Amino acid sequence: GAVSVSNDANGISAVIPGWFSEISPMWPGEAHSLKVEKILFQGKSDYQNVMVFQSSTYGKVLVLDGVIQLTERDECAYQEMITHLPLCSIPNPKKVLVIGGGDGGVLREVARHSSVEKIDICEIDKMVIDVSKQFFPDIAVGYEDKRVTLHVGDGVAFLKAVPEGTYDAVIVDSSDPIGPAQELFERPFFESIARALRPGGVMCTQAESIWLHMHIIEDIVANCRQIFKGSVNYAWTTVPTYPSGMIGFMVCSTEGPAVDFKHPINPIDENDTQHSARPLKFYNSELHTAAFCLPSFAKKAIGSK
Ligand code: SAM
Repeated sequence: GAVSVSNDANGISAVIPGWFSEISPMWPGEAHSLKVEKILFQGKSDYQNVMVFQSSTYGKVLVLDGVIQLTERDECAYQEMITHLPLCSIPNPKKVLVIGGGDGGVLREVARHSSVEKIDICEIDKMVIDVSKQFFPDIAVGYEDKRVTLHVGDGVAFLKAVPEGTYDAVIVDSSDPIGPAQELFERPFFESIARALRPGGVMCTQAESIWLHMHIIEDIVANCRQIFKGSVNYAWTTVPTYPSGMIGFMVCSTEGPAVDFKHPINPIDENDTQHSARPLKFYNSELHTAAFCLPSFAKKAIGSK
């Protein structure tokens, strides 16, 4: 018969002693597990359960409501791609908005672009910010950049109040659509992003896995095709500690100067990096172009929307 397994609220495994297991209705029937060396932090914010543990093979791990948000070892594959796919596709990005991303990793990546003058971030959960500064200094280093302004609040409300045409790029680094991030996957939110962007401005948003969530992706793509009149694309990267080992991004532009995301025109000048961040580990322009190539089954589902 069926065995039902329930971990504690932070995902500490009920079946493998000393391991973290990622069990969720979002990926039924599978549970990626990591060996825990030491639990470093457990807390409950107004929005979610927050945990940090030292793993034996991926460094420190940040977990929200039992779901892995990042590990020190593979965060580069996510943070670098979600940031440089949009920013390397347009000339001279100046104003950038980050929604979510409380760990600071996307800020660290945006700050590599010397053309950028202003970086706003709106993260809902102050505990995520504080915990990242305490346990993930190489990621939270993004907050040290002088161009960053932090807003603690709901990204949906924040975007509604943004004057039309303000940003060159909006990056949505959200958690999954169960919990505080639910509205970040819905149509009105995408409409506010399009309004907040200048003509020919770009958006990149976390868009789930083609192995697990094709129906969610198809809905997002259908919405985006109606809202973003420049272009609508799905790109992806590998992240070993995310369910199914990969994650996708919706990469879109508004009507205006054309943006050809598959051919990046604004490479990062590593000599010009304005802060103490490490060199790029993952992103390069070959990967940028390759990220838009899809397996046949995904191409068929996404292309037909
Ligand atoms: N940067 C990460 C990585 O490397 O994979 C992971 C995701 S990040 C920690 C997701 C953040 O989105 C969380 O800190 C969460 O609190 C935030 N968030 C969720 N819903 C939000 C909302 N409605 N407005 C603003 N931030 C939100």
